[in-house]
Amino acid sequence: MGIDYEPVIGLETHVQLKTRTKMWCGCANAFGADPNTNVCPVCLGLPGVLPVANEEALRLTALTGFLLNCTVARHAKFDRKNYFYPDMPKNYQITQYDLPSTREGFLEFEYQGGLMRVRITRAHLEEDVGKSFHFARNSGLDFNRAGVPLLEIVSEPDITNAEMACEYLNALKEVLVQGGISDCDMEKGMVRCDVNVSVRPRGTTPLGAKIEIKNMNSFSGVRRALEYEIPRQIEIVSQGGKLIQSTRRWDDDAGITEEMRTKEDAHDYRYFPDPDLMPFKPDDAWVEGVRARVVELPLARKQRFMRDYQLPAGDAENFKQDIALGDFYEGIARQSRHPKAVANWVINNLRAKLAETGGTLATLAFKPEAINELVTLVESGKISNKIAQEVFTDMYATGEAPGVIVEKKGLVQVSDTGAIDQFCDQVIAAHPGPANDFRAGKVAALNFLKGQVMKLSKGKANPALAGETLERKLKA
Ligand code: ADP
Ligand code: MG
Ligand code: ZN
Repeated sequence: MGIDYEPVIGLETHVQLKTRTKMWCGCANAFGADPNTNVCPVCLGLPGVLPVANEEALRLTALTGFLLNCTVARHAKFDRKNYFYPDMPKNYQITQYDLPSTREGFLEFEYQGGLMRVRITRAHLEEDVGKSFHFARNSGLDFNRAGVPLLEIVSEPDITNAEMACEYLNALKEVLVQGGISDCDMEKGMVRCDVNVSVRPRGTTPLGAKIEIKNMNSFSGVRRALEYEIPRQIEIVSQGGKLIQSTRRWDDDAGITEEMRTKEDAHDYRYFPDPDLMPFKPDDAWVEGVRARVVELPLARKQRFMRDYQLPAGDAENFKQDIALGDFYEGIARQSRHPKAVANWVINNLRAKLAETGGTLATLAFKPEAINELVTLVESGKISNKIAQEVFTDMYATGEAPGVIVEKKGLVQVSDTGAIDQFCDQVIAAHPGPANDFRAGKVAALNFLKGQVMKLSKGKANPALAGETLERKLKA
């Protein structure tokens, strides 16, 4: 039998920060403008200009550090990474080399029913580059993106398969969106990642040769690239071949990775401290100001919803993914003795109505407390669940309180035994066949009769009471 190999994966994720302006100049950090309209001498790399660090980008970087359980540095610095590509007009990129703004944290996320923790090596601040376009006869460059603040989040090689890589990326994205760090809009290229993967005999410690798949821009691409690359590597080493450290590109159409360069011709970036930028040494007040912006993370939120409102994981997941809906729910659930029932109304009925009518939570006709009132009406037996659906539709459309609707339309559930008795007598008389069936031991016939009572009462009979009464009468 051959050796069993296991993959080892580490991700370098680049995220555009949600700032109004670029990293070193006042140009707009905006997607979709006409080419080269958000540019100035600084981001075009013209001689004689000086960069001025975007304070909000520094804050968002430190905030990411807090959200990812990192140490936030009290002494960070900026370095130049030299390289010569047409999309980088300065011929170097400003980044953080040996003194990044944050380091040594972790991201926790749900994975296969349990919790997984991937260590974060560092999250450092750098700048995005421009974009090249290749036309039939020539190429074009758009520098609108050049100088957009970019956060690089580097993971330790703790990820062990393609699915875990995707779960990590999803969780990271959720944290960054929730924290207001980035909109993480994949369509707009706000998140890109480099996927590092090697294989080693299962259970051993030394790492195999690292293969880096560059510049992935979709999570499904990451999954497919890994699902191709891992078996490729295992096949080579299984057959006695040797892998060498190299960089590959993912061809999404062909569904394969292909070699770009090996370690031998790796770039020499010749990092050195940027002479135009002072080291960044935030004081206590600055750091505390950033810490004050820490928000509850999606996973913690889900766990809290499960704990505080006794929600099943599925319900809580809805409120983790849709923050606004979760906030809305919580506003009601806090006042409710039936938080699970409130969750059902919000997740099922309200969401369906919003989708159906194109409505929003901000423009609801009814007051959030109305859902609580509705739940109380049901729980106290005043109206049936079926009638409650009707009341909900009405209150959604008109904004009227459930109690008012119930009174006005005479929807109160009939629990009055006299009235129920009458309905039952009528039904038994009208349907002698099923009545005899039940008497003869065909239990299912009761459901039919019960249905008739509900129909006769226009849905207002208390179903449990109707069932009991029928049974009592038929057995008499
Ligand atoms: P570099 O200096 O070439 O960028 P690093 O050591 O900083 O390399 O690692 C970059 C990324 O690659 C990190 O996410 C790290 O976890 C991952 N990594 C490093 N070595 C390996 C390996 N042998 N296999 C898989 N991933 C690795
Ligand atoms: Mg790298
Ligand atoms: Zn500019």
